[in-house]
Amino acid sequence: DLCTFALIWVLLPCFRLLSPSLESSNPNLTIPELARALGACSTPGCRAVLGEPPHVPPAPPALSHEQWVLLTQLLHRDAAVLAPDGSTVALGPLLAGIEVGQKRVSGWPFPTFEPPIDPLYAVTITEALGTSFLLARGGDGATLGPGGCWDDVDDPQNYTLLGPPSPIPDAVANGAMDGVLLGAQMAQAPIPLTDLLRGYYGMGNTTEKGRPRSSYRRRDFGVLMGPEKLEQEVEVMLRVLRVLPPTRELLEDVGPEELVAIAHRAARDFTQLYVECPPIVPRCMWGARPYRGTPKALTLPLESVFIHHTFIPSAPCHSFRSCSRAMRSMQRFHQDARGWDDIGYSFVVGSDGYLYQGRGWHWVGAHTKGYNSKGYGVGYVGDFSSTLPDPDTIALVRDQLLPCAVRTGRLHHNYTLRGHRQMGHTDCPGNSLFREIGTWSGFKVSTSLGGISRAWRLGCVVQHEGWMRFVMLMVASSLLCSEDQHRGSWSGGCR
Ligand SMILES: [Zn+2]
Repeated sequence: DLCTFALIWVLLPCFRLLSPSLESSNPNLTIPELARALGACSTPGCRAVLGEPPHVPPAPPALSHEQWVLLTQLLHRDAAVLAPDGSTVALGPLLAGIEVGQKRVSGWPFPTFEPPIDPLYAVTITEALGTSFLLARGGDGATLGPGGCWDDVDDPQNYTLLGPPSPIPDAVANGAMDGVLLGAQMAQAPIPLTDLLRGYYGMGNTTEKGRPRSSYRRRDFGVLMGPEKLEQEVEVMLRVLRVLPPTRELLEDVGPEELVAIAHRAARDFTQLYVECPPIVPRCMWGARPYRGTPKALTLPLESVFIHHTFIPSAPCHSFRSCSRAMRSMQRFHQDARGWDDIGYSFVVGSDGYLYQGRGWHWVGAHTKGYNSKGYGVGYVGDFSSTLPDPDTIALVRDQLLPCAVRTGRLHHNYTLRGHRQMGHTDCPGNSLFREIGTWSGFKVSTSLGGISRAWRLGCVVQHEGWMRFVMLMVASSLLCSEDQHRGSWSGGCR
């Protein structure tokens, strides 16, 4: 099983090498505890739950000096890794959640707090959320996000945020959700860390049937933790932080009602952004070329959505690698053969659980001639003349993207939804997919959009790239743990 993914795969063989030698030098030190020794979980709430960090052990004999140095950088509290599904995951909250799961299994006596807090949520999500919204009150600092991009998805070294940072960028939100899910799983049925991570993030093998569980993180987190429960847990966490010595001062002038309001806002905003809205892969992650020409802004909210299939590629894409490749080839075709400014669609739908940003929320696309400034163009990768996207991929647009667009003010609450064929001479989005969208709410049989066909407008997106350095991650798989790793390109897959 030689897989060619950098990123989290680099960690797994290291963990496998490290586990036995950690056990021999310090039988009580697990990898999450090693991460804590190296600076993860250094916030007051996390320390109160899991205790003071252990001492950093000497370099284990199984690892070379270089391997040890790189590993300690990876486990440092601000580090994040690229997962095979294309998402970026902060290791701090992820490993803290797993440690709570391991400690629950071993019967470790967690300290008690008044009011009682759930240690799993405290170390992953509720302290971070409560603190972020506490610090932002009164000001206009960001509380959540943004996403970011790696310099090179084949050999990721630097991750750059797409805008001003908040205390909870997307990578930390992902790590927190994964930490909750994997900590809960570990507490139920303990398994070795490497098996846990491999099972969750998948093998990254494109021949593999089905999506890795990590691509369902938003749905699964939402099932485990609805907004009411999240709010309640943030609230009790804030009440505990109010009495912990390091944070007491921070909450001194926060009355009980304000504290409840902060918890409410935190849970609501987090749920809307990360549970109710679908994940959207930014342009820089799929390797978009820059725009050509001058961008034209949409006037929001829009009143329409037009559904397309891409036809070519005719096969649905099932992985970050293949969906990104499809995006690049469509953009090339639209720019070079059609002479457009950019890929035509507003958003493209992969069968890997992700939407891919085309022109995005704010810029006029080139998808539905005459109506490009009236509506978003959403294109499913594949030919859906006689088959359908899988149910999860159908639901990604119907149940997530569209309600999210309405809630966030991009789409009118009374929007109409149509297939491309209703607006022009085309079979798009294919007979099967067209029948399917006929059952969606907002679907309109008529073709009239109130009149006059407009000139076909081509718009442009200007990426908001407040390129700020976020974490530096050294992933030199040739250096690190060559046990079963092969450097190579994403196109290599598994052998
Ligand atoms: Zn179309």
